[in-house]
Amino acid sequence: MPYLSKTATKELHVFSDASEKAIAAVAYLRTTDSSGEPNIGFILGKAKVAPTSGHTIPRLELSAAVLAVEITQTIVNNLDLDTVKFYTDSKVVLGYISNETRRFFIYVANRVEKIRKFSSPSQWNYVPTNRNPADSGTRSVPAHDIHLTHWSVKEQIHKRNPIANLNPFLDERGLLRAGGRIAKSDLNLREKKPLIVPGRHHIAILLVRHYHDKIKHQGRHFTYGAIRSAGFWIIGAKRLISSFIHKCVTCRKLRDKTECQIMSDLPEDRLEPSPPFTNVGIDTFGPWTIVSRKTRGGYANSKRWAILFTCLVTRAVHIELIEEMSSSAFINAVRRFAAIRGQVKIFRSDRGTNFIGAIDDLLRLTQSTSKMDPSRTFFIILVQLGSSIRHIRPTWVEPGKE
Ligand SMILES: [Zn+2]
Repeated sequence: MPYLSKTATKELHVFSDASEKAIAAVAYLRTTDSSGEPNIGFILGKAKVAPTSGHTIPRLELSAAVLAVEITQTIVNNLDLDTVKFYTDSKVVLGYISNETRRFFIYVANRVEKIRKFSSPSQWNYVPTNRNPADSGTRSVPAHDIHLTHWSVKEQIHKRNPIANLNPFLDERGLLRAGGRIAKSDLNLREKKPLIVPGRHHIAILLVRHYHDKIKHQGRHFTYGAIRSAGFWIIGAKRLISSFIHKCVTCRKLRDKTECQIMSDLPEDRLEPSPPFTNVGIDTFGPWTIVSRKTRGGYANSKRWAILFTCLVTRAVHIELIEEMSSSAFINAVRRFAAIRGQVKIFRSDRGTNFIGAIDDLLRLTQSTSKMDPSRTFFIILVQLGSSIRHIRPTWVEPGKE
């Protein structure tokens, strides 16, 4: 390579990274020419699918470091280099490599031996994940553990970073946990030092879905509680949970209002501005038993009914008590009502209510006790009062149309 031979210095920078699904290593050559001008070029990259099970992230990171050493061997055999530097975003791996005293499990020991056979601990450096080019070799996976590690250096946490006030620290497995001041409480470690999960990451949604399902679609407080007691601290959890529940089909089915028919337009006599009790609805209720007087042997009971007059516009009510279900009692009640409340334009009554029953009773009673047509009697009163009546049985036609 004629270009390379003219350069003043040749440095090899090798980066390694791992996720649950892949390990990767990338090598760059940094050259400086005689005038001091630097030039950086990609030399070699290699990625491998991670072993399927039983490997912690630090172990995978260690395997990635071995891969870095392996590709470096290939390069060194073909290139003359001044210096070689290695980078990993795993502090655990750096710990393994620089360790002089601790004894490791065979898995770790074998790999550390491989690395140290070819490189010295002084060649190994830390690089934050977001500046680790090897990260892209592993990035197709939701490797939240790895992404978390780039926050692992405390000095790097910006004051405005949402996790800054959580006192984050790295645990022995290289996972980022929230510190906090409840270390002496009775809670278990998971709850005391929850794993920090970035709220915008897919894994956060997966966690919310899982625990929301697990607690059978209870509300956001329960969902939040379930996530916390499982040992996760999701940044912006409350908002995430709320929006998740809002979109949750099961929750919508359970909590939404039932669909209902749109009511037809109100009749005009329910709407027209007018003095109270201009348009009136009538209903009866009762009977109930009352003590009417004391006797020597005890009490005498009798029954009472009430007639309810409702103003159809203002919903004001007027109640008249009647002592018997007779047409005269009813008519007197209407008269008393009209005397107090003034002239009524329209009386309206729903079908199928007590009122219809009362009218039936009235009809039967008055027919048997009086020669006079009861409807006629009532209408005479209504005409006298200047009122009309609607929505009553077909036999009860409007006054004047009889
Ligand atoms: Zn739900």
